[in-house]
Amino acid sequence: MTGTGHPTRPDGTPIDKEALRRRYLRERDKRLRPDGNDQYLQVTGRLAHYLEDPYTPRTEREPKTDHVTVAFIGGGFAGLVTGARLKEAGVGDVRIIEKGGDFGGTWYWNRYPGAQCDTASLVYMPLLEETGHMPTEKYAHAPEILEHCQRIGKHFGLYDNALFHTEVQDLRWDPERSRWTIRTNRGDTCTARFVAMGTGPLHVPKLPGIPGIESFRGHSFHTSRWDYGYTGGDPTGTPMDGLADKRVAIIGTGATAVQCVPHLAQACRELYVFQRTPSSVDVRNNRPTDPEWFTRIATPGWQRRWLENFTANQTAGMADEDLVMDGWTDIARRMRARVAALPPEDRTDMRKLLAAFEDSDHEKMEEIRARVDSVVEDPETARQLKAWYRQMCKRPCFHDEYLQSFNVPGTHLVDTDGKGVERITETGVVVADREYEVDCIIYASGFEVGTEHARRAGYDMTGRAGTKLSEYWAEGMRTLHGTHVHGFPNAFLVQPTQGANLISNVPHNLTESGRTIATIIKHALDHGHTEVEVTQEAEDAWVDLLVSGAGAIWRQRSPDCTPGYYNNEGQPTPRAKFNVGYPHGALAYFHYLDRWRTSGTFEGLEFR
Ligand code: NDP
Repeated sequence: MTGTGHPTRPDGTPIDKEALRRRYLRERDKRLRPDGNDQYLQVTGRLAHYLEDPYTPRTEREPKTDHVTVAFIGGGFAGLVTGARLKEAGVGDVRIIEKGGDFGGTWYWNRYPGAQCDTASLVYMPLLEETGHMPTEKYAHAPEILEHCQRIGKHFGLYDNALFHTEVQDLRWDPERSRWTIRTNRGDTCTARFVAMGTGPLHVPKLPGIPGIESFRGHSFHTSRWDYGYTGGDPTGTPMDGLADKRVAIIGTGATAVQCVPHLAQACRELYVFQRTPSSVDVRNNRPTDPEWFTRIATPGWQRRWLENFTANQTAGMADEDLVMDGWTDIARRMRARVAALPPEDRTDMRKLLAAFEDSDHEKMEEIRARVDSVVEDPETARQLKAWYRQMCKRPCFHDEYLQSFNVPGTHLVDTDGKGVERITETGVVVADREYEVDCIIYASGFEVGTEHARRAGYDMTGRAGTKLSEYWAEGMRTLHGTHVHGFPNAFLVQPTQGANLISNVPHNLTESGRTIATIIKHALDHGHTEVEVTQEAEDAWVDLLVSGAGAIWRQRSPDCTPGYYNNEGQPTPRAKFNVGYPHGALAYFHYLDRWRTSGTFEGLEFR
């Protein structure tokens, strides 16, 4: 149905663009609230039990007081891929410090039923070629991804010196000895020549600040700390028979809820799904991997080819073929078709390009809304499940059983018309003055994003001049490549912002950063340098380049979006303009970074 002329609905009728824009703004306005990020509760004090690790008992150990060459904070994909590349480069002395009880990061914590990757496993799961693993499904489920993290840890010897259930509380540059001092909540005071950090964007659970939340007398937990002891079942999909006689509320309908609601719908006596903003839920089409097909495609260098192809497909006009062929590449394919239909002289006109993107988006969202009608039997429920915003305003979801759950007897959508849950009582959840009595409340309420970096990380790194990172970034993030920060020698960040900023496949950002950091550290060690730091000029030039790009234009438009963590809950902040990527696109960034890294001169870095 992808058109190149006036955008149309799946039934061929023209879309009234003005009417749709007005509808989107009306729906956004319903959801705007003055308290922005402050509407959420920080999970501390009396709520701290929501953070407890239900998966691995904590083991006692002696505090560490030793020195390592590289310390990595975070044992998720970022730490694993960087650690792996360091080991490959011959830097053996690597310590990963992780707050969970094992490697895995987001996949350690998120073991809720139905959890699976939303990006195709062949490009999402890192180091498949190096570890020889064939993902069993196009979108692997969480237990397989967690096991893969452990596989990487074992394959590259990263368990040897790792510290689990350990949270960094202080990180300070020691200029006398050119090294970092690391203090943790386990009494460790160790040092490292280099530190790298991959603490992840979504790892601190948040709770909605619903009045009465602490008064509930029934059972409750956050999706990232799933209580299988209560629900029965396990992450592999064993039915949750503990819920057979239970009335359960789930609060939130984001990407997490979309994946676990189908399992709850099958298990609970009654399930109430409390919705503030519907997710857009497109087709999933998961399937097992055919081993014969995999053997044919898995020739040397295959994963890099697939990564590059997937990323190329996210960049308008760049890809001849589409290896992954899924919802993400479909979004980009449609945009490319729209851009290709423009007269050549218009293809560099940002206004015309944005209009083409909007047309393509309108068609896609109309299809997603039509899908709701075709699946959900009750017309009123179907009406309430439709998302009225542009697809990239919120995290796009893909699922083939979520919408169907609302046809299961005993599963009820409780739409709050953008207002959110009104109140929680000792016995239930209140919306529009009606109390829904439940035995258990599951919070699918997401993770802190817009709060201060130091609050989420748990420490505020102190650099060369005694400056804290939070002070240096008071006006917004400043880095070279999203990795190096002036004033913070021998420190590296592993995350997408100010680099490729490829959100459809976050691990691709991380693997490239890991490779780069390993190359730089190896270079420093081989040449006897004790310090490496980005110059002020190089950092400034990089930030200037980023804020002048198209990503910055999209950021300015994001206040039109329905509130969420993508747009700081609808509250524009001057700092948001720095949360962008390379202006020429993700693929161009990876090529640029590859040239920069392999040149061996690392322009912009100073080695001492
Ligand atoms: P989200 O932040 O996306 O969703 C939180 C949900 O809670 C939203 O639906 C929100 O509504 C709702 N909510 C918040 N406050 C209230 C309230 N007072 N009353 C009612 N509802 C409320 O969290 P998720 O855990 O779903 O997802 C977070 C991110 O994690 C995703 O965006 C994605 O990046 C990642 N993820 C990735 C997956 C994958 O790749 N497979 C799977 C799951 C998550 P509202 O929208 O109105 O704010």
